[in-house]
Amino acid sequence: MRREPPVSTTLMPTYSRLPVTFSRGEGSWLWDTDGRRYLDALCGISVTTLGHGHPAVTRAIQEQAARLVHTSNLYRIEAQEALGDSLTAAADMQRVFFCNSGAEANEAAIKLARLHGHRKGIERPGIVVFENAFHGRTLATLSATGNRKIQAGFEPLVSGFVRAPLNDIAAVEQIAQRNPDVVAVLVEPIQGEGGIRAASPAFMQALRQLCDQRGWLLMLDEVQTGNGRTGHYFAAQGLNLEADVITTAKGLGNGVPIGACLARGPAAEVFGAGHHGSTYGGNPLACAAAGAVVETISAPGFLDRVQAAGERLHRALSDGLRDCEHVAELRGSGLMLGIALKHDCGELVGRALDAGLLINVTAGNTIRLLPPLTISDAEIEELAARLVPLIRDFG
Ligand SMILES: *Cc1c(COP(=O)(O)O)cnc(C)c1O
Repeated sequence: MRREPPVSTTLMPTYSRLPVTFSRGEGSWLWDTDGRRYLDALCGISVTTLGHGHPAVTRAIQEQAARLVHTSNLYRIEAQEALGDSLTAAADMQRVFFCNSGAEANEAAIKLARLHGHRKGIERPGIVVFENAFHGRTLATLSATGNRKIQAGFEPLVSGFVRAPLNDIAAVEQIAQRNPDVVAVLVEPIQGEGGIRAASPAFMQALRQLCDQRGWLLMLDEVQTGNGRTGHYFAAQGLNLEADVITTAKGLGNGVPIGACLARGPAAEVFGAGHHGSTYGGNPLACAAAGAVVETISAPGFLDRVQAAGERLHRALSDGLRDCEHVAELRGSGLMLGIALKHDCGELVGRALDAGLLINVTAGNTIRLLPPLTISDAEIEELAARLVPLIRDFG
């Protein structure tokens, strides 16, 4: 591995960083400060989904930055109104609140669900969440997260979350019977940090039915799965699922921070003036970047290409890893893929870096691939050619 000077001690050491600094990016590739080139199969954790330096996004950022960066939500914002129109259309939703991150998008959804509950006369509204879920690092979202490591040391946690195993509709029905204060369900269509584990289509439809019966809001955390990642604008659309609330962030700004909480039906009528806010949320710069992202992903044929690319990558990996004893499962959808090994494999991240490939490992044993949605066929073959031998040698 490369030698680098130690990270500045002025930074709070909340991350253990890999010993590499990138100085330039183009499409699916990044260059480090020594000029070495890496294939980016992670996209800054599903953020730069159109690749680095996408021309339409770069142009939108440059033009908006030169004209006007920020004014606040005390005034009308042209780029925010335009993005509201294009994003709700792409999502089949009706209204949107803009913020700056995934955690903030989920905070908005949690507040919306609670206010909806209070309007129904429920004083302590509850939200069903799932084991292994990840919803963010703020106090409410880490409380909703199903990972003790993320919560430990930050008690008292925010109350009002009721946890169930994923894909266990009987467990959720039991909660419904025992807990009249529940008002909503918050679920990732595919758990990202939790190891690329999908909620089954049957489970999601059963959740929808249960929500209809009980008057609960079905809220999907699409922070990672949204913006084309699974080959649909939102994973909900691939499941033919009508959500009441969808949260997103990550890929929405292709690297410019922005989050969104979308709603439809009664959920779209919950927030009024003064109920929620954000100084930066939906500012002209972020909305101009996101506007270019939504337009690019919504263009005819784009999502079909993501599906084809996902199938090609899946095939290249399953062919390359056939009869590889220590590989347990290849899972995911579109260009959100997980390769679960039978043992922990965090070490592979450094080995891949040495091989000029950026990947990530989640849940201890699952290699997570989130390559750019714009990845070419040749780059998909290159990705597999770099990754497969590393996995085969890691028996
Ligand atoms: C990354 C992520 C979040 C948190 O997003 P931030 O922008 O880091 O706050 C929330 N939910 C899911 C599913 C995520 O993948």
